[in-house]
Formats: sequence, C-alpha cells, structure tokens
Amino acid sequence: MARLAQTADLTDIQQEILATVRSFVDKEIIPHAQELEHADAYPTEIVEGLKELGIFGLMIPEEYGGLGESLLTYALVVEEIARGWMSVSGVINTHFIVAYMIRQHGTQAQKEHFLPRMATGEVRGAFSMSEPGLGSDVAGIRTKAVRDGDSYVIDGQKMWLTNGGSSTLVAALVRTDLGADKAHQNLTTFLVEKPAGFGTVAPGLTIPGKIDKMGYKGVDTTELVFDGYRTSADAILGGEPGRGFAQMMDGVEVGRVNVAARACGISIRAFELAVEYAQQRETFGKPIVAHQAIAFQLAEMATKVEAAHLMMVNAARLKDAGRRNDVEAGMAKLLASEYCAEVTTQSFRIHGGYGYSKEYEIERLMREAPFLLIGEGTSEIQKTIISRGLLREYGIER
Ligand SMILES: Cc1cc2nc3c(=O)[nH]c(=O)nc-3n(C[C@H](O)[C@H](O)[C@H](O)COP(=O)(O)OP(=O)(O)OC[C@H]3O[C@@H](n4cnc5c(N)ncnc54)[C@H](O)[C@@H]3O)c2cc1C
Repeated sequence: MARLAQTADLTDIQQEILATVRSFVDKEIIPHAQELEHADAYPTEIVEGLKELGIFGLMIPEEYGGLGESLLTYALVVEEIARGWMSVSGVINTHFIVAYMIRQHGTQAQKEHFLPRMATGEVRGAFSMSEPGLGSDVAGIRTKAVRDGDSYVIDGQKMWLTNGGSSTLVAALVRTDLGADKAHQNLTTFLVEKPAGFGTVAPGLTIPGKIDKMGYKGVDTTELVFDGYRTSADAILGGEPGRGFAQMMDGVEVGRVNVAARACGISIRAFELAVEYAQQRETFGKPIVAHQAIAFQLAEMATKVEAAHLMMVNAARLKDAGRRNDVEAGMAKLLASEYCAEVTTQSFRIHGGYGYSKEYEIERLMREAPFLLIGEGTSEIQKTIISRGLLREYGIER
C-alpha cells in the first residue's frame, strides 16, 4: 500500500523484514488463501515458508536463536500476514504469546529448554485460558491441578484452543487451590508438552477434533480434556504456583496489539479490494467510484485504516519502551476490530452482488472480521479495561 498504514521511523532492518514478508504474502499467501480457506485446509507450505523466514522466532532473543525483534516489528509483520490471510497470523499468534510468556516469566531452565526450538518452529505453542463455561471471566477457571508428591494431577476441560491440535506445547491456566483470598491468585500456568495431533495424545490428555467455525479456517481450534493428566512441578511457568493469572494477562496484553494488527491487515485488504473494484465496475455510464456516495465510502474506509494503524503502532511502541500499555492496547484492539467490521462491510457493499459470491475475496474477509471482536477479550472487556485505567488516572478524591 503506497500511502496508507505507513509507519514512521522504522530501522533499516525493520523495513527489510517487512518488505520480505510483504513479498511472501503477495506471492505465497494471497494466491492460495481462497482455495485453502474454502477447503478448511491447514496451510502447511505457507507455515514452512514462515519457518524459513524466521517468523516463529521473530521476538525470541538472539541468545536463544531468534531474531530478537520488537513487538512493533512483530505487529507490523502480523498486519502484513493478515492482509493476505488471517488464519496464517493465527498460526503464529499463540506461538508468539507462549514464547513471550516463557521469555518474560519462565525459569532459566524453561527458557533454555523451549526457546531455541520455538525459534525454529520445531516446538509450536498454543495458549489456553477459556473453558466451556467461561471466557471473559478468567478468574472463574474450574480446571484443577492437585499436588501429589512431586507431581500435579490435572482434571477439567478447556475450550477454544487456537492451534490446539497442531501445537506441541500448551500454556494452560488452571486452578491450584493455594488458599489465597482472591480467586485469580490461585491460578497457575502449566507448560504442557504433547505431540501434535488429535485424540488421546498423552495419558490423560485428549484433543477432540477441530471445532467447525464460520471463518478463520485452516487453523485448527479445539477443546482439550485433562483426565487425571500427571505432570511435574517443573512444568509450572516460572516455577511457583499462583502467578498464572498475571502471566497470562501479560501475554494477552501483547496479544491485543497483535489482534489490532490483524484487524488493520484485514481492513487494508478490504480497502484495496474496494478501491480497485470501484474503478472497474460501471453503473449509469460511469465507474461507481465517480458516484460521490462510493468515493466517500472509500474516504471513510481509508481514514479508519489509518486511525487503527496509528493506535496499534502507538500501543506496540509503548510496550517496547517498557511502559504500561494496557489502556492503549485495549483502545487499539477495540478501535481496530470495530473498524475492521465496518470497513469489511463497506467493501462488501461496494462489491454489490459479487461480494456475496465465494469467488470474491471480500466474502472471506466478511467471515474473518467478526472473530476480532471476540478474541483476546470482547469489545465490552476492552471497555472495562480502558475505563478502569482511566479512573486510575482521573479518579477524584471523595
Ligand atoms: C475462533 C476462536 C479462537 C479462540 N482462541 C482461543 C485461544 O487460543 N485460547 C483461549 O484461551 N481462548 C480462545 N478463544 C476464546 C475467546 O477468548 C473467548 O471466546 C472470549 O474471551 C469471550 O469469552 P466467551 O466466549 O466465554 O464469552 P462470554 O464471556 O460468555 O461473554 C458473552 C457476552 O457477554 C459479554 N460480557 C461478558 N462479561 C461482561 C461484562 N462484565 N460486562 C459486559 N459484558 C460482558 C461479552 O462481551 C460477550 O458479548 C477463542 C475464541 C474463538 C471464537
């Protein structure tokens, strides 16, 4: 995109990475996305290509074999990938969150054990908070780990694991009754290693089949059932129980920047498709773009793309600078995902009847956009985070 969603002050390395990814997206993702998505087929060749580009290790420190890049670089890469096909960004996102959590909160042994193999994409991460009975209300988690000598035994059911089948490492948030007053202080993250695949993949650990979704196809989303699954205390992220909630919230916070970036990528693509179609399609003797109503739609869409991109970049840069960004990440995620739903709908309408045909890309984008209103916390949850943050700053003495 020549003009929209440009980012000021990128380093030469960042520009080089983005140019490489953009070219990969144009050549290897966009031409295949429709077919793979309609077949709900896992994008194996694309994933292998991303491994070769080092994308799985983008934010993993160089000492562990990664590229040691910033959250901003990662978010801009995700924006490019989602412009091609959101499901591919889903393949790397949970991996990125788990690698980030291990980097931030893991013991030295956990970093050495996982990060080098995560950097190459040999170990692939999924993260699991949600359960059949809860998503927003994380503190209500019921899946339970009970200590038994040097081990823990886990029982319960988790839900909505993106990459649940294809991953080999799941960061799972479960209850460990430690007697803390506040429910969230009893939660612990376990690093669960397993083979990729479906069915009973380890004693006491079952990944039932893929959940059939309206969009976001290709990438597998699954349940996970623990039934007397036994693991060691060494599998606790950071080594100590009771810290899981804070660790996961840290992971989800960078995940929100990533969801905002995905929304930007889809919006950019929806705009690209609309601006091209509006110049080709003629009605009443002129291209539809010559009707002011359509030109103004394009102006609105481009403005939304630009606003969302700027907020996403701001949230990423704050985190990279070591500053708190919960409010800004929440705002970026809220605005980018809501705008994405609007921009894809506007593009769909500009396509007229053809937008409803599966031959046109906008049909897929229309099914992808709604997930962004839900994943990493719904819009209502973002507003809760934003308003709480604002009251911390603007609260008055009573
Ligand atoms: C395709 C897909 C992939 C996913 N991948 C993962 C994953 O990899 N790992 C994972 O852990 N989870 C994953 N999720 C789960 C996702 O994070 C949850 O669906 C999401 O957090 C919402 O939770 P819920 O579905 O239980 O909705 P609920 O929490 O039941 O919410 C239902 C509705 O009530 C609203 N609501 C809830 N509480 C409040 C409140 N306090 N105030 C106002 N409104 C409220 C919500 O905004 C929503 O509109 C995935 C979901 C999908 C659809």
